[in-house]
Amino acid sequence: MTEPGTPVGAVAERATAGFRQRYGAEPAGRWAAPGRVNLIGEHTDYNDGFVLPFALPLRTVVAAAPQDGERWTVWSELADSPVEFGAAEADQPGRLTGWAAYVAGVVWALRAAGHAVPGARLAIASDVPLGSGLSSSAALEAAVLAALVDLGGLDLPAERRPRLAQRAENDYVGAPTGIMDQSAVIRCRAGHALFLDCRTESVEHIPFDLDAAGLAVLVIDSRAPHRHADGEYASRRKSCERAAAQLGVPALRDVSPDDLDAALARLDDDETRRRVRHVVTEDQRVLDTVALLRAGRVRDIGPLLTASHASMRDDFEITVPEIDTAVEAALAAGAYGARMTGGGFGGCVLALVEAAAADVVARAVVEAYAERDFAAPGTVTVLPSVGAHRT
Ligand code: ADP
Ligand code: MG
Repeated sequence: MTEPGTPVGAVAERATAGFRQRYGAEPAGRWAAPGRVNLIGEHTDYNDGFVLPFALPLRTVVAAAPQDGERWTVWSELADSPVEFGAAEADQPGRLTGWAAYVAGVVWALRAAGHAVPGARLAIASDVPLGSGLSSSAALEAAVLAALVDLGGLDLPAERRPRLAQRAENDYVGAPTGIMDQSAVIRCRAGHALFLDCRTESVEHIPFDLDAAGLAVLVIDSRAPHRHADGEYASRRKSCERAAAQLGVPALRDVSPDDLDAALARLDDDETRRRVRHVVTEDQRVLDTVALLRAGRVRDIGPLLTASHASMRDDFEITVPEIDTAVEAALAAGAYGARMTGGGFGGCVLALVEAAAADVVARAVVEAYAERDFAAPGTVTVLPSVGAHRT
């Protein structure tokens, strides 16, 4: 992903070309869904707190047409051969594995919710990098969901789609994720970030018009090997749940910053205190970021981003050397703020930069990596983009 986001046309053309080549026919339509990045609010989702993702100009496009019966045939440019399945496979979570499980999971979730899903042939192209933490999985689910809903004329308003796509991933694929990814890729608007309350699942579109401000976000794929990320995630989650129980609150979201010192004094070990401090201060940083964006003070969110990073590094302890190097190099090269984004132990860094300085900052990160003999990072400059739609 060293290139800027390809225009939607290029990915869409590949989806159409793939459809024609595989199936020898024209698709009935094309549906796109983007990857996403979380501007701020890390490990707050399962603590019933706040997150602030925005959609990327990188997307997955599905070209699709109906086919007779309850049969689904799906091909991706990233896979060798198409996968075909019927209702029996779709109705049994876990029956299909690998990438096609994300597609079967959407069919399953729709059918489980009582929808008459039309049989279909699908061809998928994407420029969302896989497994980098930019949510290629939610992009795939959301694009397939949009295609099947439109092809079948199903009644499923946008606000009910994230939950359904999440069920596909949690229950069919078997990957435990929160509601953020699917909410972001389905509901985001161009020039806005999506302020999501993970307790109530209410969303608000917050102006984040980087283009008008002459700004951009540089996304850096750390290319760091994921080191025990699943186990570390589970242990952080457990610490948070234990701390909430000790403090007698439903979730850490219920500890206000004003009560933080008193709460920390009631916890008996230092590691748990640091975990709690991260979550409580991170929720507040999301609220502060939203307030600044509402006031049109985009550059001023930089220090909050950087403070979020320090909190993840020192209190939540989820960063790795490649990630810290990228953040430090971006800041030294003039970024207003920079932080790791995503669950940690690898993944991506984002930096808020003057649009005209994005290349200089990207080069500085590449050089800092080279000095430390890290495998070269990927870089892409992005603006907040539109969520899932027919294209
Ligand atoms: P992330 O969502 O951060 O990119 P995940 O591990 O959650 O990482 O999802 C990546 C998986 O999603 C891939 O391994 C693959 O199975 C599936 N996937 C996503 N996009 C595509 C695509 N365009 N074609 C085929 N499979 C895809
Ligand atoms: Mg994912």
